[in-house]
Amino acid sequence: VKRALALPLSLALLGPACRKDEGPPPRTDKPVEATPPPARTYDGLDRAELNRWAVRENVPLYWIADTDGDKQVDPGEVAALLFYPTRATWVEAGAFTPAFDAAYDGLVAASKATPPASSPEEQKRRELVGKDLDQGRATLVLTETEGWSAEEKTFLTRMLAIADAIDALYRTQTGAAALASQVPADDRASQSLFRRNQGPRCVAPSTEKDPACSAIPGAPKMLVDVYPAAAQASPTFCQDLEKRPEAKALLTPFTAVRLGGESGEAPEAVPYPEAYPQMKAIADQLDEAAAGLADPTEAPLVAYLKAAAASFRSNDWQPADEAWSKMNAENSKWYVRIGPDEVYWEPCARKAGFHLSFARIDQGSLAWQAKLAPLQQDMEAGIAAAAGAPYKARKVTFHLPDFIDIVANAGDSREPLGATIGQSLPNWGPVAMEGRGRTVAMSNLYTDPDTLATRRAQVESLFDTATAALYPSTPDAGLLSTILHEATHNLGPHSEYKVKGKTDDEAFGGPIASAFEELKAQTGALFLVELLRSKGVIDDAMATATYVDSIAWTFSHVASGMYTATGERKAYSHVSAIQLGFLIDQGALSWDAEATAANGKDKGVLVVHPDKLVAAVNAMMKTVGGIKARGDKKGAEALIAKYVDGTVVPHAQITERMGRYPKVGFVYAVH
Ligand SMILES: [Zn+2]
Repeated sequence: VKRALALPLSLALLGPACRKDEGPPPRTDKPVEATPPPARTYDGLDRAELNRWAVRENVPLYWIADTDGDKQVDPGEVAALLFYPTRATWVEAGAFTPAFDAAYDGLVAASKATPPASSPEEQKRRELVGKDLDQGRATLVLTETEGWSAEEKTFLTRMLAIADAIDALYRTQTGAAALASQVPADDRASQSLFRRNQGPRCVAPSTEKDPACSAIPGAPKMLVDVYPAAAQASPTFCQDLEKRPEAKALLTPFTAVRLGGESGEAPEAVPYPEAYPQMKAIADQLDEAAAGLADPTEAPLVAYLKAAAASFRSNDWQPADEAWSKMNAENSKWYVRIGPDEVYWEPCARKAGFHLSFARIDQGSLAWQAKLAPLQQDMEAGIAAAAGAPYKARKVTFHLPDFIDIVANAGDSREPLGATIGQSLPNWGPVAMEGRGRTVAMSNLYTDPDTLATRRAQVESLFDTATAALYPSTPDAGLLSTILHEATHNLGPHSEYKVKGKTDDEAFGGPIASAFEELKAQTGALFLVELLRSKGVIDDAMATATYVDSIAWTFSHVASGMYTATGERKAYSHVSAIQLGFLIDQGALSWDAEATAANGKDKGVLVVHPDKLVAAVNAMMKTVGGIKARGDKKGAEALIAKYVDGTVVPHAQITERMGRYPKVGFVYAVH
């Protein structure tokens, strides 16, 4: 369709700048026939390119879909993105605003010419920044508020303001905030990289290990704020901390390590509210959001928001966890989790990073709940039997995952590329220990047409034709896999489980413990499929689809590399390599170097042997569960040596084929 022209004729012909410079329009005696102006066009960039250049130029614009297929962006097809340094209004009264036209023309111009850099090094850095940005494809998480009550809309606005505050707090924790002023103000790509990556570092597969790739000239190291800067100069600083006699106190999750004592050099654990006084303002915002919810049916949410506010002041997170655990898919429209939770973000994997997960409940989970809840104890018994002594089956009473539609992820929850698709919380304390936590599966992510098409192409480059035919075309199998993964976090040896007096962190060290907790969960996602099939909860086709989907899930993690640029273990990459290698050694998966891929082009493919999957997966659960049950660090290291660092898994081929497609970089908007 043609763009509707809502502006008066004179304004439409003369841009805002012209109006100022050229004075009033000329007077004429005769009324001019009102002929429509030549409508301007919006065909300078196709959809993928417009979205790519919007990221490059740090412009909060997204072309959702070419709904009418006219190859031009239309007012009904765009979103104004959240969490950019600027907020924009692109459409008013059904027409593009002058701000849109200016932004659009700027993007077209940027796509045609790059400004010269001040030096060859700077030129190289800017090229790398562009390359890192281009390895992510902006993918929209859109929330439509049509039909929401005024109270719901106010709550949304308040929570989005809290999201901004959480971002700022998280960037302080990570050390990003301390570097922000060094990002060149006139270099929009570097500003965009810093925004998306929540710091100057490059994160995409082909650039993250290039030391010159940074949003800041000279690529200064980003030092986390939760440990003293001086300590971080040593490559073994995490192990050094773990060896200190007061390690237990220093490495608690809700404290920052500061230097103090009489010498001024003794490391001390400082509670978060003391280290981060801005937590007080967030507490006030949470109280305000709670006060605005008069709807009596949201009482459990109000109770949680108030408890969370109190925890932001006291640093005692248990009351917030208690209130949170009382919420579910049936007693609120919303899913909110705010506070310090996961530890993957920091090099020692000990300190909890601040985040906000803000979502609407998707009622679709209730059907799965009804099917799976009666099997919880069977699941625990199966995993306990596989893991073996000294672990004994417990009574488990966890909630199966609630499906949620993400509205906004902030802080540690907003990853530069990719996103968390399932989460079990809390990680510590009585609510976790007693299995009273909550588990969620993010059901509105990775379900857009662009992502589904990309995944299919990737899978067809790595699987043979027969295996690719088993890859599901709907998100159900992936969702089931996520449900089982999250359920398994609550099963078998868990984070509060101790063997010989040691927790998993103490037995394995933080990073391996994190990776093996995820490995247990993802192994459960494979292992429990047969239990569900044998009980008639799912049919044979769904079982096979779930296995194949889970195997395909590993590809992007293998492709993203096993270690970060600074040498830290990537938990999901370790999980993925160990699973693929294990299945290969068990004969359930093979690498056929001569066969042609399902796309008819690539040579060398992975072939799944469905008849061998159940036995292989049972063996995997026994090995992985046993390592956790016995606190068997040597066993863990052997799997890592063989599959993460060894040659069983075709790392190079997987990385090359996945690398042909950009990764998903989620962006957010509310309509
Ligand atoms: Zn997990």
